[in-house]
Amino acid sequence: MAGFKPDHIENRLFINGEFVPSISGKKFDIVNPSTEKLAASVYEAGAEDVDAAVKAAKEAFPSWSALSASDRQGYLLKLADALAKNVTELSYLEAITMGKPYVGDFLNMFGIEILRYLASKALDINGDSSLNTAGHVNITLRQPFGVCGAIIPWNVPLLMFINKAGPALAAGNTLVLKTSEKSPLSCLKVAQLCQEIGLPKGVLNILSGFGRPCGEAIAKHMDIRKISFTGSAVAGRAVKKAAAESNLKNVTLELGGKSPTVIFEDADLAKAIPASAMSVLMNSGQACIASSRVYVHASIADKFIEGMKTAMIQMGKSGDPLAEGTVRGPQADKLQFDRVMSYLNYAKDNKIDMPIGGGREGNTGYFIEPTIIANAPEDSKVMKEEIFGPVVCINTFTDEDEVLKRANDTEYGLYASVFTKDVSRALRVAKALEAGSVGVNCTSPTMALDLPFGGWKQSGDGRELSKYATDYWTELKSVFIAL
Ligand code: NAD
Repeated sequence: MAGFKPDHIENRLFINGEFVPSISGKKFDIVNPSTEKLAASVYEAGAEDVDAAVKAAKEAFPSWSALSASDRQGYLLKLADALAKNVTELSYLEAITMGKPYVGDFLNMFGIEILRYLASKALDINGDSSLNTAGHVNITLRQPFGVCGAIIPWNVPLLMFINKAGPALAAGNTLVLKTSEKSPLSCLKVAQLCQEIGLPKGVLNILSGFGRPCGEAIAKHMDIRKISFTGSAVAGRAVKKAAAESNLKNVTLELGGKSPTVIFEDADLAKAIPASAMSVLMNSGQACIASSRVYVHASIADKFIEGMKTAMIQMGKSGDPLAEGTVRGPQADKLQFDRVMSYLNYAKDNKIDMPIGGGREGNTGYFIEPTIIANAPEDSKVMKEEIFGPVVCINTFTDEDEVLKRANDTEYGLYASVFTKDVSRALRVAKALEAGSVGVNCTSPTMALDLPFGGWKQSGDGRELSKYATDYWTELKSVFIAL
């Protein structure tokens, strides 16, 4: 439905079921990354707005948590229906702020599916019972924390919103959520839909603002008992520190990745090549789960690299995110563009081979060429750090044990993949890879609603999706009943 334009773009904060300007009246600008022109000017929340949102969430908590689970499920399903009806507008708002192509936006459709699934989990939040103590019936209760906080990144705003608000609200918590300063508009549309479906006031409060002061104020707030954060490891560490230094609130973290793919000599390259290319091109490489390090067996390396060159050029064709048929947009903003270019310049300066790409695309907009970096030293920063662009590093190997050491030699552990036709090897390698998710003969973005998602090591702490998602939004209580 190219050519769509919304009648109105909301730019205020959503507190206690109403749209309000920030108390300071301060605004910040968002630049459209395709045109480099102003997309919107948005009210910026400060610590005093966080206080107002927490107060509203606190007042809303008793009645929201007292509702039956099926009533809460009902609200979430109504919200999912409203999101589905408005998905074009939601995707449009993301396209003009962070550049994600908006026609047929499968990431947002997947997000809505997640919300429906999480709504169904409201009825599965149960404790256990035990007859193991003589003269007792003992039980456990799973109860909401109360007022919770959430901080989300800019790369898939609606999906990130759903991963937090879905389980938090299903479990009976109320929420203060901060969007990213790069892409706040789609969540403000969600707020308008919350009003339309009659979500009780104060249950969900949405603030636009920066990490400091807004995110920090949420992380430090004494009345917030749990915070869930998605973003970089640097900011995740700051959130955990602020939580520790305030009220030791419960923290879950979804952080970055530098995910390895291991491609053995017997791999089906007809599958491995398009899957590996798609993994780093999706969302212009701005995905925490992007498989950005590929280890290919030396005996098939030339064939694999030739195939990747063709696939990345064909599949990575960029264009206007508002035009029908565009599959890849620009990087989200000038900061991200400069960051990715600094890695490409590092590769150039260090004479690391780049079989394709390595530069900017065009003169307007923050577009970057699909890039392959080949045979970079294992300890170089392109192999160690998250680049967050359409860039894949390809190295070769000959020995299974040795490649596993290199694949696991990272502080990250979000996703890993293996391509082989040998079942025993596939399972052995899947077990050995240090990551929260492992793809066998597939790679990211492969995920499933009912399987947990989260990171090992510095990729995070906690899980989203699946039957475990609500565990992270509830306290567990033991009740001892003497007979
Ligand atoms: P970021 O860490 O810069 O920002 C994320 C959010 O944190 C933003 O809302 C930002 O305003 C806020 N923030 C920044 N500093 C803060 C502070 N000191 N206190 C509180 N809040 C603060 O990350 P980003 O650039 O928005 O997103 C990209 C990163 O997110 C990448 O590292 C990516 O891998 C990661 N990510 C992880 C997942 C996952 O599920 N594991 C999903 C998407 C993105």
